[in-house]
Amino acid sequence: METDTITAISTPIGEGAIAIVRLSGPEAVSITSKIFKGKNLQEVDSHTINYGKIINPETNEIADEVMVSVMRAPRTFTREDIIEINCHGGMTAVKRVLEMALSNGARLAEPGEFTKRAFLNGRIDLSQAEAVMDLIRAKTDKAMNVALKQMDGRLSGLIQRLRQELLETVAQVEVNIDYPEYDDVEEMSHEMMRTKTKEVHEEIEKLLSIAKQGKILREGLATAIIGRPNVGKSSLMNTLVQENKAIVTDVPGTTRDVIEEYVNVRGVPLKLVDTAGIRETEDIVEKIGVERSRQVLKESDLILFVLNYNDELVEEDEKLFAAIQGLDYIVIINKTDLAQKLDLDKVKQLAGTRPIVSTSLIEEEGVDALESAIADTFFEGELDTGDMTYVSNVRHIDLLKQASKALEDAMEGIEIGVPIDILQIDVTRTWELLGEIVGDTASDSLIDQLFSQFCLGK
Ligand code: GDP
Ligand code: ZN
Repeated sequence: METDTITAISTPIGEGAIAIVRLSGPEAVSITSKIFKGKNLQEVDSHTINYGKIINPETNEIADEVMVSVMRAPRTFTREDIIEINCHGGMTAVKRVLEMALSNGARLAEPGEFTKRAFLNGRIDLSQAEAVMDLIRAKTDKAMNVALKQMDGRLSGLIQRLRQELLETVAQVEVNIDYPEYDDVEEMSHEMMRTKTKEVHEEIEKLLSIAKQGKILREGLATAIIGRPNVGKSSLMNTLVQENKAIVTDVPGTTRDVIEEYVNVRGVPLKLVDTAGIRETEDIVEKIGVERSRQVLKESDLILFVLNYNDELVEEDEKLFAAIQGLDYIVIINKTDLAQKLDLDKVKQLAGTRPIVSTSLIEEEGVDALESAIADTFFEGELDTGDMTYVSNVRHIDLLKQASKALEDAMEGIEIGVPIDILQIDVTRTWELLGEIVGDTASDSLIDQLFSQFCLGK
């Protein structure tokens, strides 16, 4: 148990109007009592909300009118006493309240320290703690659902089940080796090991295959709008931004990258680069050649390639087509309100199986079809996060990849008849790697590093 009491401003996602000053630790209640005018917080029941004012105890000056939630250990997020002061008077009032808490005995929380305490006090496991971080960064409702499910322990549950399977295998081999006289324990055969490893490997691969979608949900689809000057790239960007509610801004404490624009298109968060960035790509092929521009474009998850219906296809368009071959792109034929000059057959031929959408951005036509095409490209229709267990955390994905690799090593070994006691090294390794996801074998330094990534106040 930690002995000091920490505090920070902690604002719920999507509720910019309310700000909360949170305290956690043994003195949370007594510190708040010193600066609170209202009921005696030392005497109120746990899990109650109390109206009153935060005052400067020295000058009696009022900092803000507030609602104070009192939650006593252990039925709290950190398993410590928690106070949440709901402020009403805007950011300056919130800061005044925070200052009062600080000058009366609380210490400013380090980023992620509340969650770290929850983890250290056994309230949540590591993957759940990381989900809190993802939740803070979640850019759309769907992304938030993914994080919420993970916090729910869904991923942990699955990982623990897989670990259990592996552990049983390892245990069986151990017994075979150490106690050969126990003939009621079946001897682990290559065949049995093949079945087990294959099973777990398939589950891990399944998790990894949907991880890409998870990443997109969390970080946004890096989207580049390209095309010759004047085809309507800026108009497209404006349309997408205006038609789709801009995505909830990050909570205070996280840096917001101003050159990126996030929009939510049917649950797919697009991270559009700013106009300046787009302008740079306008004659990207001219400037740096097909090969180099391909490198730049490759970093995008999605490319919106705009053509002008009212203009002929020129060499530069063909160069752009060449530059995006093999990437995920959508062809947008814009300005369909004007006369046709574009050779559509030629466009179809160049686009191959990639989707082509016609729009007149000036008349707001074809935008629905474009949005469907965007959603289809990544989710083959509307994404249903219903029953799926998503892995959306980079560290988890990395560990799953390593685990998958270790199992593949084992599977290869099985095929060429490597002895069971050697194979079990890979199986044990897999078990350890999966353990790191839920924090069972995570080292202390890893834990510190993880929690320092959290936003302040969580
Ligand atoms: P960019 O240079 O590719 O960014 O193109 P802009 O978005 O700046 O558009 C260039 C011009 O085309 C502007 O005058 C727009 O109003 C116009 N424009 C954009 N979309 C359409 C459209 O669908 N139909 C017509 N007729 N004009 C359009
Ligand atoms: Zn432009």
